[in-house]
Order: sequence, then structure tokens, then C-alpha cells
Amino acid sequence: MLKNNLGYPRVGALRELKKASELYWSGQYGRDDLFAVARKLRLQHWQIQTDAGIDLIPCNDFSFYDQVLDTSLMLGNIPERYTPVLTQNKANTEIDLYFAMARGYQRDGLDITAMEMTKWFDTNYHYIVPEFVKDQQFRLFSEKIFDEFNLAKQHLQNTPKPVLIGPVTYLLVGKEKQAGFDRIDLIKKLVPVYIEVLNRLKGYGAGWVQIDEPYLALDLTQKEKEAYVYAYKEISKNCKGVKLLLTTYFESLHENTELAVNLPVSALHIDLVRAPHQLDHVLSLLPASISLSLGVVDGRNIWKNDYIRSLSHIKKAITALGKDRVMVAPGCSLLHTPFDLDLETTINPEIKNWMAFAKQKLNEVNELASIIDGDNELLQANIQAISSRNLSKLIHKHDVKQRTEAITDTDAQRDSSFAARQKIQQARFKLPLYPTTTIGSFPQTDDIRSLRARLKKGELTTAQYDEAIEKATIDAIRWQENIGLDVLVHGEFERNDMVEYFGERLDGFLFTKNGWVQSYGSRCVKPPVIYGDISRPADMTVRWSSFAQANTNKLMKGMLTGPVTILQWSFVRDDQPRSETTYQIALAIRDEVVALEQAGIKVIQIDEPAIREGLPLRKKDWAAYLHWAVRAFRVSASGVRDETQIHTHMCYSEFNDIIGNIADMDADVITIETSRSQMDLLSAFADFKYPNEIGPGVYDIHSPRVPTVTEMVSLIEKAANLLPAGNIWVNPDCGLKTRHWPETQVALVNMVQAAKQLRQLV
Ligand code: GLN
Ligand code: ZN
Repeated sequence: MLKNNLGYPRVGALRELKKASELYWSGQYGRDDLFAVARKLRLQHWQIQTDAGIDLIPCNDFSFYDQVLDTSLMLGNIPERYTPVLTQNKANTEIDLYFAMARGYQRDGLDITAMEMTKWFDTNYHYIVPEFVKDQQFRLFSEKIFDEFNLAKQHLQNTPKPVLIGPVTYLLVGKEKQAGFDRIDLIKKLVPVYIEVLNRLKGYGAGWVQIDEPYLALDLTQKEKEAYVYAYKEISKNCKGVKLLLTTYFESLHENTELAVNLPVSALHIDLVRAPHQLDHVLSLLPASISLSLGVVDGRNIWKNDYIRSLSHIKKAITALGKDRVMVAPGCSLLHTPFDLDLETTINPEIKNWMAFAKQKLNEVNELASIIDGDNELLQANIQAISSRNLSKLIHKHDVKQRTEAITDTDAQRDSSFAARQKIQQARFKLPLYPTTTIGSFPQTDDIRSLRARLKKGELTTAQYDEAIEKATIDAIRWQENIGLDVLVHGEFERNDMVEYFGERLDGFLFTKNGWVQSYGSRCVKPPVIYGDISRPADMTVRWSSFAQANTNKLMKGMLTGPVTILQWSFVRDDQPRSETTYQIALAIRDEVVALEQAGIKVIQIDEPAIREGLPLRKKDWAAYLHWAVRAFRVSASGVRDETQIHTHMCYSEFNDIIGNIADMDADVITIETSRSQMDLLSAFADFKYPNEIGPGVYDIHSPRVPTVTEMVSLIEKAANLLPAGNIWVNPDCGLKTRHWPETQVALVNMVQAAKQLRQLV
């Protein structure tokens, strides 16, 4: 039984690649310095996999920025606007072109925008979106895959396994940049380059080649299915002797099973962590010529593998296919897990014993194989760890479970309808037409960040820290009052991050020291770990919100992160459904909302920017997800009286297909991101006749550019043509924490001015 690995995190245990790339970008590192770090990391990662006994060790899974961008370069799919990067500056090489595509290029008199970036399926990893034009050409351009194979071959005992993104998935993750063609029709032009690459690899001595086609586990059109048949028939006809390992992950093959198993490849990989039920179906249809790689170790989470469960899959496959045709592997690339649990020295040892990061997961693959060969001791140790987790008092809180179970529809329901609440709130707040507000955070200046760093190091006492935060808060309040905003915020100066802040104050969460996961390019995130039943031992935000409210006669918004967003941006438990965990968070947030109301806060915002990104990959699963996600939000929001106004906020607002569910959240006010699309995104709300109040963002906070009054007036007018003017709020697209004060101040003065101008017209 071969032990297979699909991909390894590449940034390095101590984020070495991040540091090296940033030094290269700032000119402090030369090309050789950068390449030396990259080479060292590759060798290290191969060594770790060798030590873990992996047979099929991937190469070309390393990337300086992103594996989809690597593929674009391999295929010579380089948008024309980047040509001058090489021609205008002769000293530039492929790596500079590559980074220019990833990050834009502002040098040598050039100003070229970066390529678009978007999320890789339902992960938090962002890839660079391939661009396609009508007369698109492909040619073998970058030799990276060969260089990496040859380097690996020098250092590995087993023949390395090159990894590449398959042709159909490559087309589907991209975007047409011109009208009048369908990118899937480019398959005929694309396949010849793949054939060339595969034959070159064979020439260098490659055996197994992993070809990733995650799209096989998604909803496919007829034409896309035909593209699969065409591409793989052509490849098998023209690449004799290459052993293709067709790799799927993140979802079940489902109705595409027959298509997938009948493609002419040597092996198929399926993800049994995300989609265990597909095994029977696949086994029943798999032709005798194809081996099966079983993805049993979770590549998306940080929990120790449950060997009993994995072994049941493995044994079933061995019975059906024989040991020689079965491989064992993680479900997907380990790119999405942190590097090495051994580096964590502060996690409670009981909990640490339930966890596994990338390095430990390789070991799990190895151990599963040993257990199949009869090693019973390893199995017993695992059974013990798993049952200690199942029974641990650290996780299981009877009262939390009971309360979650007892949630009723009444708990998810405000006392009165929106129409009735709106009247009550209008009478209470007496806000002007087009009330102005902001989304919550104000600039997190270096001064503010350094306060937190100094507190952590013990250079500041808590009292000194609080005093400095109080001062920043009061300054922000005075300033908001002066420019005439209607509903104020306290500025979120006390928060490091909108999820971490709450995780640190809730029971059931833990934080790692080095649990970094690549988000995009050199950017890594360190998600909190939800390990147990969640409860709220004390108020989380009341101190700062009531301090802020006490310092102004204006309305002060309380500011919370919603349950779905907290779930979505954390590593979650795998021993209960996501919905269950979300409801637990929802109850904690509900208690905080009620506590804020009792402390005299009249307007409370519950941010839910991640609702949309939580959508399942398959449309058939959307309804179930949306049901509990929306209900959890409602549970968090419905503990208050009619007169208390609940806001929510969402960025990335492409809501066309879920607008009914957004309306169903029944927030009194929703603020959304719309300015970059010139209010186009608002049409979904208009078409739906969205009934509640809404603040479509009137300026883009992602750019330092200051919007003019006229611009914002016309955006608000546009919104007022689409929806009742009496329901419209005026606010920026999102929080201002990444901005600097100078541009923020001018922009908000202009924004208030725009609202005032429009009020005078009525
Ligand atoms: N209240 C948060 C802020 O203003 C919202 C951030 C977000 O939507 N991502 O920063
Ligand atoms: Zn936002």
C-alpha cells in the first residue's frame, strides 16, 4: 500500500519564505538570496516527508506565491499588459514578471495592475485568477516544474511525484476578460501544452504525476464533462508511460463518479474526510486498471486522525481492490494546515494530544499503513487519544449543550415585525433622513498596535494600556461629534482582530503561537482553534461600549462579530456539526447583545462578513447551510426589545443568489460594500424589494483615495432610486482600520457633507 502526500505547506515553519519574499520585494534581498531560501525550504520539506516514510512525495507543490499563478506561467498565459516588465527592464527575469502579475508593477515608468485574486474553493487560500482572451494562445513558458522535479530527483530516494493543476480545472478557475467566447472551449488549445509538459517529465524520469482536478467534485455542465473526456483521452493517447494520479478533493464526486472513474488514468484520489460516503459508489464502479488513493487524513483541520474510522475505509478498499491498488493519503494538500505542532509549547497538553499539524499528519499516514501491516500498539495509542477527547471535561459542558438543544423558534424571532420595530425606533432615535455612520473600526495606527505589543511584553500595565485606549476612544468620539456623524462608533482600538478578540474572551477557544496558514502570497493567518463547547464567562465588550456611550450624547453603536463569521474564520471542531458549534457561539453573542442593551446601548451591530463564503461547494447543500446560518444570526440578535436597533454588516456583497436569506436575517439595518461596483450590487436588494433599512457603502475603504462630495451624492441618489429613501443609511464600505487618519478624516467630512446636501433637497 503506497503512502501518498498531495502537497506540503511551503512558507516554512517560521514563515521563512514570507520573510525572504518581502525582503526581495523591498530590494534588500537579491534574487540569489531568495532562491537560496526557497531551495532550502524545498529540501527541508522533502526530508520531512522522507522521514515520515511517504512513498509518493510531491514536487512543484512549492510556490513563490501561488500554484495557480505557477500554472499560468507554465502555460505561457501571461496577459499582454505585463510584456513591458521584461522588455522595458532587461534586468528583470521570470521571477519579476511572476511577482508583477501577482502584485502589480510600479517601476521603470510603468504602472501595471495586479491580476485578480479570489478564494480557492471553500478555503481561505487565495489564488491568482487566470485571465483568458478570445484568441488565447498557450505555449510552454516556465520551466519551474522541470527544475523542481530534477532538484527533487537529486535528493530523494524514490522518484518524486510532480504536481500540476489539471487543464479543465485550470480553465474553470479562470475568467474570460473579453466577451464572445466560453473559456472551456479553449481546452483544445490548452491540452497540447499539457502533453508537452508530461512528456518532458517522462523524459526526465517521472513515473507518477499528480494532476489536480477538484472541479470533478463540483456541479458540472455537459460541456465541462465533455472537456474532461476530451482532455484525458488526448493526454493518454499522447503520453504513453506517464502514470497519472487524477486528484479530487473538498467534495464528493457524486453524479460525476462515472465520468471520473472512466477517465484513462492510472489512479484516482478521493477525499474521504469531506465526503466519506462516496467510497462505496467509487468502489462499485472503479475499473480494474485504476488504483485508488484514499484521502483519510484531514488536510483542512488540526485534529488528530481517528484511526478506527480511517481503517474502516482502508480495509473496505483493500477488500474490494487488493492492497496493491490502494494508497493512503491526506484528503487534500496539507497547504491548508499549520506546519508543526511540536513548535507549540503553551497549549494545554491534554488538548495538544488531540491535535495534529502538517508534519504530524504525514506521520498519521505512515502509522495507518503500519497498522494495516499489523502494528497494534499504534492503534491503541490513537484509540486512547480519541476517547480522551470524546470524554474530556475540557470540551463537554452539559449546560451549554442543553441550552443549545433548547433553542426555539421564538428565540430566533424579534418580538415584533420589522415594520412595527421601525416605527418604534424612529420615534425613539429621531434620526435625520440618510443617517450617517461608520462600520466600526478607525485606523489602527502604529501607536495603537505598539500599545498592545508593549502590554504583552509587560512594558505597560493593564491600567496604563486601558488609559491609552480610553484616550484614543475619546479623541475619536470628539472628532465624530465635530464632523456631525449621526450614529457613532467607539473605534475598536482595543481589538487586535475581529475574531481573535472574541475568541480570547470565550471558553472553548485556544490560540497557537505558530499555527500560520498561507492566505495569499506572503500573507499568513493564524486562526483560533475551537476545541470545546463555547460559553461566555463574562461580558466581552460592555466595558468599552458603555465607556464610549458615557462620553457622548449621541447614539453609540455596540460592535460584535457574528456567530457564522467567528466559526468560518477559526479551526472548528470535527466531533460535532458546524451548525451545533455556531449555535453555541450564537448564544454567547446573544447574551452579549442583551448585556449591551442593559448597559444602555441602543444600537448594536453584529458583523457577518463571512456568511456568503460559508456557502457549500455544491448547490444542493446550500439550503441546509443557509437555514442554520441565518437562524444562528437571528438567535444572536433576537434577545433584545423592539426599540433596540440591530445592525449587521457584510463585505464582498455579491448577494444575487442568496438575497432572500439575507432579508430573512431581519436585521433592522444592514450595511454592505457597494461603492466599487457603483451601486450595481444593490440591484439584488432592489429587485427583491428588500424591506429593511440598508446602508450601501458610498466609498471604497481599500484605497487611500478620497472620494468627493459630488461622487457620493450621486451614489446615494442612485441608491435612492433603487430603494425607499427613508430606508437608506450613508456609510463607508467597511471598517477603517487599515486606513490612515488623514485620508479618513477628509473622506468622512465629505461623506457627512454629501448626506446633508441631499437632505436639503427634500
Ligand atoms: N466592524 C468591523 C470593522 O469595522 C467590520 C470588519 C469587516 O467587515 N471585515 O473593522
Ligand atoms: Zn466589511
